[in-house]
Amino acid sequence: LHHELPRRIHRFHERLAQAGRERMDRILMLRSAVHNRELYLEYQPKVMLESRRLIGAEALLRWKPDGATLLPPSVFIPLAEETGIIHQLGQLVLEMVCAQIAAWQNTGYEPPPIAVNVSPLQLGEFEFEAQFLATLRDFGIHPAQIVVEITETAFLHERTHSMQVLQQLQQAGVAIHLDDFGTGYSSFSYLSDLPLDCVKIDKSFLDRCTPQLPEPPAPHRPVNHRTILEGIVTLARGLHLDIIAEGVETPEQAAMLLELGCLQAQGYYFYRPMSPEQLAPHLSTS
Ligand code: C2E
Ligand code: CA
Ligand code: CA
Ligand code: CA
Repeated sequence: LHHELPRRIHRFHERLAQAGRERMDRILMLRSAVHNRELYLEYQPKVMLESRRLIGAEALLRWKPDGATLLPPSVFIPLAEETGIIHQLGQLVLEMVCAQIAAWQNTGYEPPPIAVNVSPLQLGEFEFEAQFLATLRDFGIHPAQIVVEITETAFLHERTHSMQVLQQLQQAGVAIHLDDFGTGYSSFSYLSDLPLDCVKIDKSFLDRCTPQLPEPPAPHRPVNHRTILEGIVTLARGLHLDIIAEGVETPEQAAMLLELGCLQAQGYYFYRPMSPEQLAPHLSTS
């Protein structure tokens, strides 16, 4: 054992160093990817549940490093946030979205409002709202063409500041959607205080509403998520907020949402994220 321990410590250090090198590699790659614009966007439509009419699309970031397989945003967004790269990356995403909207418009399409995911960290940037609106102006994009999706973690710290920034964007005409509602800290009580246009129900919450296994009998059923969802829909209505469900994968989920009064959805059941070229034929023409 006494001989084993130093060896194990050595191996532990080796592994740590290895993980650190991989992380460092990724960070360097991400920096150069942002610099060389190796990142691109896919667009996932949002629809009216009943008519399937397209009412918007969300821009989702993709990164395929040279010769490597696609890295999911769940890996590189947190990395970008930890390293501060997110500020440059967020600006790049907004510029790519603006350029894409302009390109669609120039080829005779009338795209619906396009949503960009904004990291809560971005709201802390110096004059974020001014820079955001200046970018729209530079590309000739009307603020009503853009939606900001933001998670509620933005309001955990710097709540007043976050609210002010979003309020100013909203006053300029940018719609604000609360992303991933129903995860973590969600509380109904503050919904009325925030500058919001729409609440987006998270996929995980929707999945809990339509469990694959039969539910246990009532006394053992800890929470009735369906009842909670119905409550959220009613509350949103009362606050004049739109409500959209993400991650809709089955006709059963779509039917349940309609029954509860949630009229908008996004998910593989309707459309997967796709390239701008694939989306174009689904857009209305001017
Ligand atoms: P999110 O904002 O919650 O985006 C929804 C995610 O669910 C996307 O994953 C989308 O492809 C996926 N999805 C949509 N419909 C379905 C479905 O029916 N079933 C299943 N299983 N999944 C579905 P994606 O593209 O991997 O993005 C993951 C997360 O990365 C996003 O979650 C968002 O938080 C973040 N992200 C993506 N692009 C950006 C970006 O440009 N900026 C920032 N800050 N974050 C981004
Ligand atoms: Ca989102
Ligand atoms: Ca979401
Ligand atoms: Ca989500």
